[in-house]
Amino acid sequence: MALHQVRPRILGFISEDVSAWLVASLVLLAGTVLTGLLTWAMMNLFNQQLRQRFELQAEERFSRIEEHFQDEELLLDSLGRFFANSEDVSDSEFHGYADALLRRTRAFAWAPRVLRDERQAFEQQARAEVASQFAIREADDNGGLRQAAERDEYAPVLYIHNRTPYGAPLGLDLLSEPLRRATLERARQRGGLVVSQPVDLMGADPVFTRGVLLVAPVIRESASEPFGYVVAAISMRQLVGDGLPASGHDNLSMRIMDLSVENAEEALFESHNPVGRSDLSATRLLRLADRDYRVELRPSRVFLSTNHSSVTSMVILGGLLSLLLSALLYVLVSQRQRALKLVEQRTLELRAREQELRGTHGQLRGVLDAATQVAIIATDLRGVITTFNAGAEQMLGYQSCEVLQSMTLEGLHVPRELQARAAQLGARFGKPIPTCHAMLLEGGEQGGQQAREWTLVRRDGSHLTVNMLATPMLDDQGLWVGHLAICIDITERKRVHEALAARDLLLKKLSAHVPGGIYQFKMDFNGRFSVIYASDGIRDIYELEPDVLVQNAEAIFSRIHPLDSTRVRASIRSSAHTLSPWREEYRVQLPLRGLRWVRGEATPEELPGGGVLWHGYISDISDLKRVEEELRALSVTDALTGIRNRRYFQERLTSEMARVERGSGGLAVIMLDIDHFKRINDQHGHAVGDRVLQVVCQRVAQRLRRTDVFCRLGGEEFVVLCPDTDSDSAYSLALGLWEGLRAAPIEDVGFVTASFGIATWRAGEGADALLLRADSGVYAAKQAGRDRVEVQLG
Ligand code: GH3
Ligand code: MG
Ligand code: MG
Repeated sequence: MALHQVRPRILGFISEDVSAWLVASLVLLAGTVLTGLLTWAMMNLFNQQLRQRFELQAEERFSRIEEHFQDEELLLDSLGRFFANSEDVSDSEFHGYADALLRRTRAFAWAPRVLRDERQAFEQQARAEVASQFAIREADDNGGLRQAAERDEYAPVLYIHNRTPYGAPLGLDLLSEPLRRATLERARQRGGLVVSQPVDLMGADPVFTRGVLLVAPVIRESASEPFGYVVAAISMRQLVGDGLPASGHDNLSMRIMDLSVENAEEALFESHNPVGRSDLSATRLLRLADRDYRVELRPSRVFLSTNHSSVTSMVILGGLLSLLLSALLYVLVSQRQRALKLVEQRTLELRAREQELRGTHGQLRGVLDAATQVAIIATDLRGVITTFNAGAEQMLGYQSCEVLQSMTLEGLHVPRELQARAAQLGARFGKPIPTCHAMLLEGGEQGGQQAREWTLVRRDGSHLTVNMLATPMLDDQGLWVGHLAICIDITERKRVHEALAARDLLLKKLSAHVPGGIYQFKMDFNGRFSVIYASDGIRDIYELEPDVLVQNAEAIFSRIHPLDSTRVRASIRSSAHTLSPWREEYRVQLPLRGLRWVRGEATPEELPGGGVLWHGYISDISDLKRVEEELRALSVTDALTGIRNRRYFQERLTSEMARVERGSGGLAVIMLDIDHFKRINDQHGHAVGDRVLQVVCQRVAQRLRRTDVFCRLGGEEFVVLCPDTDSDSAYSLALGLWEGLRAAPIEDVGFVTASFGIATWRAGEGADALLLRADSGVYAAKQAGRDRVEVQLG
């Protein structure tokens, strides 16, 4: 695989990819192996120590037994010497001597050699000195003693010293029993200490019955044959068991084997304590007199229990530790894996964030530098400038490298202005405010962050008026790390503002001298009207305050006469649509001055975002309107008679013709011409002729209907326009007029008549044809003798 690939590793060699379970299993395995090895080593060490301890104790036990054996030999030897060196030893002397020796020995005895012929004398002497019942005896079949049979030689026990309550086998002939005899003979042959095969000791506690006899021949210096034997009855249990710990506390389990009989080894001593389960053992041959005894030692249960190994606890502990360690490692590795995954994930996130941040930083830098019309200056907590964008460079004439970390925001201000502001803030907060904070602190005038006007000093010393918004900069934890000041150059704006103010004033003054009002009116892209500006003159036009109009343009329409309102709206929209100048005359209904005529004129201009803006002027034209109406009335009125003139007739005829051509109703024309009017002029003068014309008009007018239009066509010719009138009605009307005229004479002139011609409009007929027919009627009437009504059909 990729050796050079750098991957995180646990303990430097286990790959992180390995599962936590595998690591834990490996560690558990390693722990188990280690525990096994340690256990094995501990076991070895323990066994070694156990062996050493056992060997030490066994050695000590061997030494002690050997010592006991040697003691026994020495004691018997000293007893033998006591007999050998004494002329005669009495029973009491023997007891006195043997008593001191009787420690681990069952009994010490003295058995002199008695020949057959000496038996009697011997027995007599012994009865006298030792016991009255003394006799040389031998064992019978029942385990008791009987009178010894006749033999060549006896070795009866004469003196015996023991401490058992079972009595002593006094008088027992040691030669009577083969095993004892063989021992004595061996002693005589060797001339020294011998030990018997195991025998049942007579007169001993049942516990100590089985034992051996240690026999030594007693030989005088001059003789070659012994004259008796000293015998020590030894119970191995007593000899060896003396000084041993109680069987319940003895570390060693001991067996002493007699090897005298081939293939029939006999245990002379066997510990009562149970043998522990161990392969430890020690065997040694120990010599007592002329025989070797095999002493076998094995550790007892007590020994093993007091020297138990801690291997089991070690195994449990090691196992537990391995288990714990593997569990711990499992937890650690799995946590570490989780942590690493988390780290990886976080790292990726961080990288993405970093990338994003870099992008954002770049964008921010770009934005900062792109904002060339705005100075963006950031400072640290001491006020030292840390950011100085391109806008600031351009505005203040400094290069950012000249300013960064070397100048303060305070240094860009006019000191006098800062001092004044500091004094003002100091008075407000009731404590002195340093000038370096004067531009950063909020005065609380309007609450919240407010831009303030400041004068900054350019590099060249010139002054610059800016609007500066200073805000504290906080880090992620919300700690105050500095300030951000955003400055906009308002020099130009201020100038424009002032110019505008001057203009406003001028406009105000001018408009005050102009009758009517000037205004700016706007229609949004969605058709909503609003008043942008209205001069004071508007107040007189609509009897509305200019402010009210600016807030609510619809108030204007509440003033416009209902009959004109729709027209005005339509014309505004039309002007907006065609962008043609708007001009409209309309009536307004005012609360104080009543109905007034106004005229509005405005020039539209299209707004960039949609909508139209008008600049216009509205004036009161009520007086003009009145004059105009008067002129109009004059222009259509015949000055002499006061009725409508020919012009008016033509206009009405045109409109009536348009109406009937649309198919709504009919039209009739009655034309009349005064008969022989020339004569009246001639006879009564022109003035009378004029009066006759006036009277004729009055008489005709009296009989006309409200809808009829009476006009003077010229001279003494008249016409009546009768809308919605059929030929019959026209004829009867004409008859009425004719009769009314001729019914009574006119003062100074007499009866005046007229000739009437009637024409009723026919479909498809033009005005001229209609008039011609009426005129033909008049002509026909004249022709027929005048003073009549002639209906012209053809
Ligand atoms: P006829 O019956 O045929 O109509 O005869 P006539 O005399 O009325 O006819 P004519 O048209 O010849 O005469 C009209 C006269 O009316 C001529 C003119 O002097 C006179 N006249 C026209 N206008 C006026 C006016 O305004 N005042 C007066 N006094 N006379 C007028
Ligand atoms: Mg005429
Ligand atoms: Mg006439």
